[in-house]
Amino acid sequence: MAWVRVEDSEGAIVFGRLRGEQIELFDGPPWAGGRPDGRSIASGLARLLAPVTPSKIVCVGRNYLAHAKEMGGEVPTEPLLFLKPPSSLLAPGGSIELPAASARVEHEAEIGVVIGARARHVPVSEAMSYVFGYTCVGDVTARDLQRKDGQWTRAKGFDTFCPVGPWVVEGREMPPGPIVVEGRVNGQVRQHGTSAEMAFGVAALVAYVSDVMTLEPGDLIATGTPEGVGPLVEGDRFEVEIRGVGVLSVGVRREPPIE
Ligand code: ZN
Repeated sequence: MAWVRVEDSEGAIVFGRLRGEQIELFDGPPWAGGRPDGRSIASGLARLLAPVTPSKIVCVGRNYLAHAKEMGGEVPTEPLLFLKPPSSLLAPGGSIELPAASARVEHEAEIGVVIGARARHVPVSEAMSYVFGYTCVGDVTARDLQRKDGQWTRAKGFDTFCPVGPWVVEGREMPPGPIVVEGRVNGQVRQHGTSAEMAFGVAALVAYVSDVMTLEPGDLIATGTPEGVGPLVEGDRFEVEIRGVGVLSVGVRREPPIE
């Protein structure tokens, strides 16, 4: 089941479930008890929005050995957490805006985990039951500012720096085996990895994060990026594909001048 968030023909923003050419509309997100509201719209008439409205986006740094090495480091002994603000979310089909403050903005393709139930101090053995499903995430990063600042809030927090979507697929509907993620720029594969290569897997991450902060339904965990990160420039098309989920595609443009 693929869950979307759309703007309907009257301009209202609603959650829905893809059913062939139709979107069955719900009165709330599925991870918060949303029910069908009896309406449906043609998917061609709906504009897809970011499929989640998380209270927080928790990200994991250097979770793949090969990426940690390309960044000149090792995999940390515990998950390295940071946050992206919800204001950085970008809808599928939108454009990453390159800020004037950075001369080097890079792509990071990641497996996004959507939380399905409030989680606090969850043991690893039970952590997967708190996972609703998966979506494609871009952890767009101003690499020069990340190095300059020492902490990453600015480098990873610009508006549009968290493309997500195009939808959320429930965990139990994912293909068996490791989750495969790929990052492409203008159709060229730049990043390819699987959840099996993560230093800390999904269950370990959910448990670890829940020991720090309460995870709410709809919260998003970006699980780290495989090697192959590189620059994005104006006019590029960046895609994140997760096998069994779909392809998230966004453009890249310069941030428009401030009015
Ligand atoms: Zn990342």
